[in-house]
Amino acid sequence: MKIFRKLLAWSIFASFTLTTPLSTALSQQAQPYTYPPGLLTELKQLEQSALASDYAYRQVARLCNNIGPRLSGSPQAAHAVRYIADEMRRLGLDVQLEKVMVTHWVRGVETAELVKFAGQAPGTTQKLVLTALGGSVATPAEGLTADVVVVQDFDQLQSLEKERVAGKIVVFNKRFDQQMAAQGFAGNAYGQAVAYRVAGASVAARKGAVASLIRSVGGADYRLPHTGSLRYEDNAPKIPAGALSAEDAELVAYLASQGDVRLHLTLTPQTLPDVESYNVIADLKGSEHPEQVVIVSGHLDSWDLGTGAIDDGAGVVIAMQAVNLIKHLGLKPKRTIRFIAWMNEENGLAGGRTYAIDHKNEFGNHVAAIESDLGAGHPTGVSAHAGAKAVEILQPLAAILQEIGAGVVRQTSGAEGADVTPLDVAGVPTLSPIQDSRTYFNYHHTSADTLDKINPRELAENAAVMVVAAYAIACLPDPLPR
Ligand SMILES: [Zn+2]
Repeated sequence: MKIFRKLLAWSIFASFTLTTPLSTALSQQAQPYTYPPGLLTELKQLEQSALASDYAYRQVARLCNNIGPRLSGSPQAAHAVRYIADEMRRLGLDVQLEKVMVTHWVRGVETAELVKFAGQAPGTTQKLVLTALGGSVATPAEGLTADVVVVQDFDQLQSLEKERVAGKIVVFNKRFDQQMAAQGFAGNAYGQAVAYRVAGASVAARKGAVASLIRSVGGADYRLPHTGSLRYEDNAPKIPAGALSAEDAELVAYLASQGDVRLHLTLTPQTLPDVESYNVIADLKGSEHPEQVVIVSGHLDSWDLGTGAIDDGAGVVIAMQAVNLIKHLGLKPKRTIRFIAWMNEENGLAGGRTYAIDHKNEFGNHVAAIESDLGAGHPTGVSAHAGAKAVEILQPLAAILQEIGAGVVRQTSGAEGADVTPLDVAGVPTLSPIQDSRTYFNYHHTSADTLDKINPRELAENAAVMVVAAYAIACLPDPLPR
């Protein structure tokens, strides 16, 4: 009865109707919901329009091929901010640039050669393929030369006497589990290996190492080094840090098993003074509850080696397409749909943190935050870090998105997007498309993260997931429960 009365109160906009047989309704089981026919029609229209439109692909081509890599503090990042803001204004949205101070790290020379190893042909060296980790300090301009000590993991390093490590270059040969990635758990495989990228330098430095090299965190094909940010801990000396291609990490480990290996390493990155940058925020105002906000987002900054196509140009343009389609079809969401292109996800997360500070008092009115940051692979559905009730209310999305093979609505144990994590911690439901990420980490943070890695059809499917989820949440009779 209580449910029935509530339905009546929702009047004509009632989004949920009781479709459960009485026998089930009398039990303790959750009630399946359906959305009102009008909303269903609009969601179908949005889904079909997303598939028919090349807007998202044209936008990501622009970001990657015309503007290029967009590392925080770079001229390209600044240009991308202006470009996105202009594009959002062109769509008729209310645009704000939210100031964010970002780190400005620039890559320099990055070379390494093996200068001593077992069986070496006289007078020769072997070149290694590597890249500096974001935030790394530099070696002397002429480089440094030291013996290497290869370990599989932190435990093995800790088990070594300090004298075995002092003055040497530590090589962490921690393998990225490609089998796990191939089975659809790429994020988990990444999580296991990325700790070495983030913390390896400080752990090695505390043992007296003069530099730290990791095995690249990602797929091992094509001898590609994968960059990414590190974090120096306050209680350890800052030593230069890089990532070897997986093949070269294997090479060094092989040679080290035969005897002494000596390496000449030159990394000359620089950290310049912080730069003023921006989150681009563009509101499509809600018709009934403009103060209530549903975020659609991706991060605008990228690493500098490639052109930031799958990480995360794709996420930005999926979110752009969401507001573009709603505008284009003349639909009027009841709540505000807020597009955000986050700045500095890759090496500082200043954008997400700044938003959390500046908008703290409005979090009560943040109904949901969607971020896409796992590429542009075929989506199989949408994940939500939200309460059971909210996930139940989102279930009807499954039937709509099933048409494109994205009919899974799944509850997760935490936020999938880094930038929306502060919102998530504050209790705001966070959502992401569930993407096929089996090959994502082959290209992630490499020079091969380029436009050709994006399949236009799959990008459009992701846009469909983003817009259908966002529009539904923005139009439900009640805010999504927490
Ligand atoms: Zn990313």
